[in-house]
Amino acid sequence: MSKSVKKNYPQSLKGMHDILPSDQYIWEKIRNNLKDIAGFYNFLRIDTPLLEEAALFERTTGQDTDIVEKQMYIIKTSKGDRLALRPEGTPSVARAYIQHGLSHLAQPVKLYYEGSMFRREQPQAGRLRQLHQAGFEIISNADDPVYDAQTILACCRLIESLKIKNLNIHINSIGCKVCRPNYRRKLIDYYKPLAKSLCKDCSRRSVNNPLRLLDCKTPACQPFKEGAPIMLDSLCANCGKHFKAVLEYIESLGLSYTLDHYLVRGLDYYTKTVFEIFTEGIDLAIGGGGRYDYLIAMLGGRHSPAVGAALGLDRLVDVIKTKEINLLGKIKPKIAFIHMGDLAKRKSLSLIEELRVSGIDAVDFLGKDSLNAQLSLANKLGSPLALIFGQKEALEEDIIIRDMKTGSQETVPLKRIVKGIRRKMK
Ligand SMILES: [Zn+2]
Ligand SMILES: [Zn+2]
Repeated sequence: MSKSVKKNYPQSLKGMHDILPSDQYIWEKIRNNLKDIAGFYNFLRIDTPLLEEAALFERTTGQDTDIVEKQMYIIKTSKGDRLALRPEGTPSVARAYIQHGLSHLAQPVKLYYEGSMFRREQPQAGRLRQLHQAGFEIISNADDPVYDAQTILACCRLIESLKIKNLNIHINSIGCKVCRPNYRRKLIDYYKPLAKSLCKDCSRRSVNNPLRLLDCKTPACQPFKEGAPIMLDSLCANCGKHFKAVLEYIESLGLSYTLDHYLVRGLDYYTKTVFEIFTEGIDLAIGGGGRYDYLIAMLGGRHSPAVGAALGLDRLVDVIKTKEINLLGKIKPKIAFIHMGDLAKRKSLSLIEELRVSGIDAVDFLGKDSLNAQLSLANKLGSPLALIFGQKEALEEDIIIRDMKTGSQETVPLKRIVKGIRRKMK
């Protein structure tokens, strides 16, 4: 609808959308598969609140990141507290890990979540202000590269379970406390003479957060990336060994990957491995993540190396629709419940309840009175059987079971209705 003719009805907010019944089966499939895949790899579900102290994200995600700097929804309470609608899941999971002493559980602690995140992005294709994410996190007392591989694996298997094929993992290592400062210095030195040619964000960040210059999408900044020093040349021995092991695991799983020297994943807490997952023909990443070895300690917990990833569920749904992927398996058609006359209608609701309790999947047309209308709806639904409950049946306490294919009918006492249906279904 163009603006000029737009009626004055209430509209959903920019970047926030309704998920209508016609799309719900896709969401349900994603959530079911998430539960199965998480279960297989032993991730346990965690749910954290939508609201957190804003400081949680400022301290972890980082003051200089787009998410914190520009995109958080902040709520100021009358007492002067600053709260934020969570823009991402990882800081909340880390907070919960410390708050509830999960470090005392057998390590690693593998957690997964699913829910809404909020970011005041410029609304555009693929960027929502209320977005849905599913995430996996592995927190441990060691930075074993096998956990990086398992996190990537869980993401890929979830995406593939939705019949999305040809995945490619863009992967990089951004080093640790030991080696990253050297690399930062090299980047700063490289970009210093270029500062005037960079976009506004980059020229400001070229000193505080020079890694972010590598993932700037502004066209003006692109030509300078090519000559920029790359992190892999600056990795310390530990990080180099770690990254090599991650790649070996990924290769052994047959997952395809691309080394991406510009991938830095703009969040402050990342260390070592960072990655994003793409599928053929779609420009935006479906998911991404990385290692965050210092995050728990940044929040006051004890040193607990960790790795995690989040998938954008709205993007998954978009991909499924764009690629016209059919996720509908065979749907078991329901048995049609057809009523005629007032007495039958009055008795119908409780009768249908009895069927539900007995595990019979029935659909009623109680809002329609005409027999023809009801039969045609039953045909449209592909119901194998119809139960016909008329005035006479209601008085005599029985019901007609009609085979919709052959048209053959049988009258059975209401008491034996379940047995009758089961016999016909065979
Ligand atoms: Zn290092
Ligand atoms: Zn830039």
